[in-house]
Amino acid sequence: MKQRIVLALGGNALGDNLHEQMLAVRGTAKAIADLIADGHEVVVAHGNGPQVGMITLALEAAGKTAAKTPYIPMSVCVSMSQGYIGYDLQNALREELLNRGIDKPVATIITQTVVDGDDPAFLDPSKPIGAFYTEAEAKEMAARGYDMKEDAGRGYRRVVASPMPIDIVEKDVIAALLHAGQIPIAVGGGGIPVKQVEGNRLKGTSAVVDKDFASAKLAEMIGADALIILTAVEKVAINFGKPDETWLDQLDPAMAERYMAEGHFAKGSMRPKVEAALGFVQSGPNRRALITKLEKAKEGIRGETGTVIMNN
Ligand code: ADP
Ligand code: MG
Repeated sequence: MKQRIVLALGGNALGDNLHEQMLAVRGTAKAIADLIADGHEVVVAHGNGPQVGMITLALEAAGKTAAKTPYIPMSVCVSMSQGYIGYDLQNALREELLNRGIDKPVATIITQTVVDGDDPAFLDPSKPIGAFYTEAEAKEMAARGYDMKEDAGRGYRRVVASPMPIDIVEKDVIAALLHAGQIPIAVGGGGIPVKQVEGNRLKGTSAVVDKDFASAKLAEMIGADALIILTAVEKVAINFGKPDETWLDQLDPAMAERYMAEGHFAKGSMRPKVEAALGFVQSGPNRRALITKLEKAKEGIRGETGTVIMNN
């Protein structure tokens, strides 16, 4: 049965640098094309941790050269990461589809994610990105508008807030492309974080939205049937990495809440995935989420592997 799917790609789908990314997207394109060949409507979403780190580092370094590159806000860095990741993905996916005789256009939608300017995450920017700096450098960067924090005695780092997504600005464009049988790549890196200011103005804000939460929000807003989170593990585990590690085939909301309370899912990696999956399945009837490995996406959507999160 044809499903509307939001596919959230993790770091292993893209690699850690440009060369790795260009190789990795070939395999990633195959996994995405398998779903499209099965007749599903697919929106491709992805993370941007290493990529946005590279962009901010490069711009920071350029600021110290004769080029004296001016301060570029985090929101703009996220938009740049969407552009170059989207380019590689749309290029590879187009080729993979044409090779299979599937003539469907693929395009990247530069996507803005609305966050609440009063989100408590802004009071405690905690996500470190980029390089380490000395105290003197950190002071100078703070004067240029960066939030800087001492990181466990190792030096100072730039930190950004990670607020929750409340709206996806381009959701109707994304839905229109799906309706037309086309393939959007969207909410890259969780989307460009913007907040509502006066009138109709949306202003970029210094943050990185979690890609799993943003993908779940998009899935909810476009009425998707499934949210598929592709990461480096085939299933979610309890007692992860311990001798009594147990891989889960299914999670219902009550079980997921209990395991979260017991601390089974690591903060910043598996926990946001489980929370995002839960939020999506509880947002409407007949919504399912799947957490599995990139290479297992096809089997996963057929119900053969992965951890399924659904209401019972
Ligand atoms: P991504 O780039 O796909 O978001 P992350 O590294 O953020 O990947 O999250 C996936 C990782 O979470 C897995 O590779 C695994 O090492 C880790 N992890 C933490 N807790 C668990 C758990 N309970 N079950 C499975 N994996 C877990
Ligand atoms: Mg992650």
